[in-house]
Amino acid sequence: MERKELLFTPGPLTTSKTVKEAMLKDMGSRDYTFMNAVKEIRNELLQLAHVSKESGYECVIMQGSGTFGVESVISSIIGNNDSLLILVNGAYGERIVKMADIHKIRTVVARVPENEIITPEMTEQLLQQHPGITHVACIHSETTTGLFNPVAEIGRVCKSQAKVFIVDAMSSFGGVEMDMQAMQIDFLVSSSNKCIEGIPGFAFALCRRMELEKAKGQARSLSLDLYDQWAALEASGQFRFTPPTLSIMAFRQALRELATEGGIRAREERYRTNKLLLDSGMARLGFRQYLEPGIQGHIITSFLYPDTPHFSFDRFYKKLNERGFVIYPGKLGKTDAFRIGNIGQIFPQDVKALIEAVAEVMQEEQAPVAEA
Ligand SMILES: *Cc1c(COP(=O)(O)O)cnc(C)c1O
Repeated sequence: MERKELLFTPGPLTTSKTVKEAMLKDMGSRDYTFMNAVKEIRNELLQLAHVSKESGYECVIMQGSGTFGVESVISSIIGNNDSLLILVNGAYGERIVKMADIHKIRTVVARVPENEIITPEMTEQLLQQHPGITHVACIHSETTTGLFNPVAEIGRVCKSQAKVFIVDAMSSFGGVEMDMQAMQIDFLVSSSNKCIEGIPGFAFALCRRMELEKAKGQARSLSLDLYDQWAALEASGQFRFTPPTLSIMAFRQALRELATEGGIRAREERYRTNKLLLDSGMARLGFRQYLEPGIQGHIITSFLYPDTPHFSFDRFYKKLNERGFVIYPGKLGKTDAFRIGNIGQIFPQDVKALIEAVAEVMQEEQAPVAEA
């Protein structure tokens, strides 16, 4: 029997057999079935964020990984006279700083340590200090550590000062209930292979139309032009360049399976259960977490290396891999840590099996290693 590989990572994730099977039929980019799938997906994604075209929002699908989606927004919507405040507490925030630099976008960068959240108070203060700021970018679930930034509160501050609010909700959208309008988010970006549990291939930006329209003719890149991509999808239902046809078909299936599971609320519940089992299981084995519990999200968790004298992360990782469990390495400043995600087609029994495997491997790690 084929062994099931379980990915305890932030994506790509373990996907269902039926999602993978949705990719078995070749599909032309002008195929009626494909174009309908694109339409269905664009509408459904808005619904998942509790908005619609009628309420003034648009969904733009962008080929590539999640970063392509974020870069599409950053490089398209910020004008030469605008200024972007980037709130950074991890690698994904730093990635936005890099994008802005490459595109020569005017920025104010505010950094807090990786084990602290961005606060609305700090955001308010920054906006007062720098009245030229027009846009604010922040990560929701900072996958570097697993913390959740309080985006609803930050959004309120942005809105009260009439700033455009951009949220990288890559690793949380679909696994956390988010009402985009209530959270005052103007641009929300996520991708096909995170909590919706699809296959890699594209990112999507949910956009407030009023702000999206301002991006016309302003892009700094041809392929990542958010406005043009939207205009093409609207005019003909077509992508400008080769679309990720099979990834789209898999994603439509993934959305249907999300609905069958009971929607985002049910999925969030499953992920939270996974997280509780992971926390209690790892604590029982003596592992300590990097973050204080209050700011930790339920998507991915950072664990400190154990004090076990002979512990080698490479060996630990490899032994888990051999047993069919893929975890995620991760350096946090000077702190040695690794990460375990609990999103994707991962169920409580899988988390229990992982904990058993970790227990076994740690048992072996206790024994002195015979060096060759
Ligand atoms: C996964 C992820 C991304 C995108 O990464 P890609 O490798 O480009 O798909 C961006 N931001 C966050 C917070 C993520 O977790």
